[in-house]
Order: sequence, then C-alpha cells, then structure tokens
Amino acid sequence: MITTADPGRSTRKREDPAERSRIMRAVKSRDTAPELRVRRIAHRMGFRFSLRRADLPGKPDLALPKYRAAIFVHGCFWHGHRCRRGARAPKTNAEYWRGKIARNRTRDRRVAAELRARGWRVLAIYECQLRREAAVAKRIEKFLRRSQGSTAQVRLSF
Ligand SMILES: [Zn+2]
Repeated sequence: MITTADPGRSTRKREDPAERSRIMRAVKSRDTAPELRVRRIAHRMGFRFSLRRADLPGKPDLALPKYRAAIFVHGCFWHGHRCRRGARAPKTNAEYWRGKIARNRTRDRRVAAELRARGWRVLAIYECQLRREAAVAKRIEKFLRRSQGSTAQVRLSF
C-alpha cells in the first residue's frame, strides 16, 4: 500500500554507494510519519487493523474490530498536546492557530465520546511519545488486552 519513491532512478545513477544510502535513509525517515510508525508497531505485534474506517466516528487511524478498539495518532502541535512541541505557539496569526487547535481538541473529545457510546475504546498516541517506541508498543498491548472481554464480547456470549 505504501510506495516508496526511488530517488536514485534517473538522475542519481552515478552517486557513490555511501551517498546513495544517505539519500535512501532520508527517504526512509520521510516515511516514518507518526501514523506510519504506529501502524508498523501494531503490525509487528501481530495485530490486525484497518485504516481510517469511514463508518466510525472520526475515522480512527487504526481500528481493531476484534478488540473494538480505535487508535488515533495525533500531531502534538495540531492537537495541543501538553509537551514542548504542543506548546509551541506561532507568532503570526497566533489567534487563528489557537482557535484551530482548540477546535481540533473539541473534535477529538467529541469523536472519542461517540466511539465510546458505540462500545469502542479509544487510545490516543502523540507523536512526541514515539521517541520511545518500546513504550508505545507496551501501551498499545496493554490497551488492547484490556479491550478483550469488553461489552461487545459479553453481549455476544449469551
Ligand atoms: Zn507531544
């Protein structure tokens, strides 16, 4: 599903291998957008998920129907995370950005409430937390384990 462009194909044929691998690394790091990294973590742990399911409130970045669990990956700035990056305030149009971020946060809360009302559980992962990938993996696992035996399963078992 994810295609990686090959930057070397036409124009960089004569580059030495070191330079080439430097470029490939650069391309790679562009692919490690927070959402992609969370997908990779969940995938590595063997969880099956679907992406941005349109039938769920907020189109969660990852939805795991088996666990009735939704995972959102949030950019710290856009979602007003309480961290250094989230606190960074642009100097121009400060008012505009403040409003925008406040609206995002309101929507995040509303979406989470709607999902919970449908019996889904919600986990939000912020991009700054991905600096510690192992910790994120642990959190996802804990979150999903807790989801097992949730109301959905109880309802199905009678
Ligand atoms: Zn953050």
